Amino acid sequence: MTLIPTLSTDFLTPLYRFILLHHRQTLTHTVPCQTQDYDLIARYRLMFKPHSNTIKAIRSRLLDWYDQNARSLPWRPASPTSAPIPPYYTLVSEAMLQQTQVATVIPYFHRFLETFPTLETLANADEQQVLTLWQGLGYYRRARNLHACAKTIITEHNGIIPSDIDSLLALPGIGQYTAGAIASIAFNQPAPILDGNVIRILSRIFFITDPTDHTPVKKQLWLLADQLVPAPVSTDFRPGDYNQSMMELGALICSPRNPKCDTCPIQKLCKAYADGSPESLPVTLPKSKPRPVNHHILAITHPSQPNTYLLEQRPPTGLWSNMYQLPTLELNHSKDIATDQLAAYAQKHLKIKPQAITPLKTFKHQTTHLTITFHLHAITPAFIPSQLKPKTQWRSLDKLADLPFSNPQLKAIKAMN
Ligand code: SF4
Repeated sequence: MTLIPTLSTDFLTPLYRFILLHHRQTLTHTVPCQTQDYDLIARYRLMFKPHSNTIKAIRSRLLDWYDQNARSLPWRPASPTSAPIPPYYTLVSEAMLQQTQVATVIPYFHRFLETFPTLETLANADEQQVLTLWQGLGYYRRARNLHACAKTIITEHNGIIPSDIDSLLALPGIGQYTAGAIASIAFNQPAPILDGNVIRILSRIFFITDPTDHTPVKKQLWLLADQLVPAPVSTDFRPGDYNQSMMELGALICSPRNPKCDTCPIQKLCKAYADGSPESLPVTLPKSKPRPVNHHILAITHPSQPNTYLLEQRPPTGLWSNMYQLPTLELNHSKDIATDQLAAYAQKHLKIKPQAITPLKTFKHQTTHLTITFHLHAITPAFIPSQLKPKTQWRSLDKLADLPFSNPQLKAIKAMN
């Protein structure tokens, strides 16, 4: 299916205009479109609207498969007859599952719920405690947003998580996907979801060969997802289970590489399978390469207290904001730096005069936009200042449990221990 426009907008007849208006009324809450895009989207939707039998078959096959194959997960009811899971569990699990594998999330989810069993306990928590519990899971903005979200729900919604898409979207850090997931899973609302798994499955079923991260194509995918999610009038009105079946199929069967098409419940409906080319989809726009930069970590030992190092707190904005670290010089380029420049940095910014600087270890860390090479140096100070700079402190490496650190900083600390 090609979604990039090649036809004139004259294609829209009065009948199509009528349906377009209907779309506007029904989809403004679910599809983040600019008004001028609706003509384009409606045209594609009309051209490529799946047949109602196809929609029914996809839904019923996925739901049957999900009933048999859904993994038992702590944020799902143990069985269809079990008590429903609190919406708070859905809120926490959806925040944790963004860009993170289920197996990684499970122990974090348990620890988080043990410490913050209710929305109120989370809202009343200190941010450092939330970040410390999140430590190792990465993408710390999610933790801050979840914390802010809990506070907002307490103050603006009397502590009750809203069930409608508009109110969910107004909460900190809740985007279209998370709003759809919470509305459908926790409140049985017919709201679509679209993440990497769903995009992969839809692009393969409908053989969408345009780049799925191209905005008009993405909007079309939202519309496809919206058509497929069970509507209240349908016999299989289980929007939460249907959305989870898509997530589950993407995780267990329709994987990016080596999809298990032989065991796929919707194989007979899949155009990419029929074409023999599932792995070629989805197509994405060419991405710019991550920029290489160098960060120098200074492990400065206290001259008289064993295993004690200088720590600093990061600024309140930007990468790993407010988290703790061994003092780190972040260079915005990939050029090397001389030892005397490190010494000058320590003296100017930390008031520490190094006696010796010993290179210990180099390792890489990948973020979305950066390839960071970390260089760990051991520094023995010639003397230490009587008064430390604000936001710095001496700490024994045995007593760090209450402070949040990023993964590369934990790696450096482990190397020092
Ligand atoms: S048949 Fe294969 S490619 Fe198609 S949806 Fe199933 S697993 Fe994915």
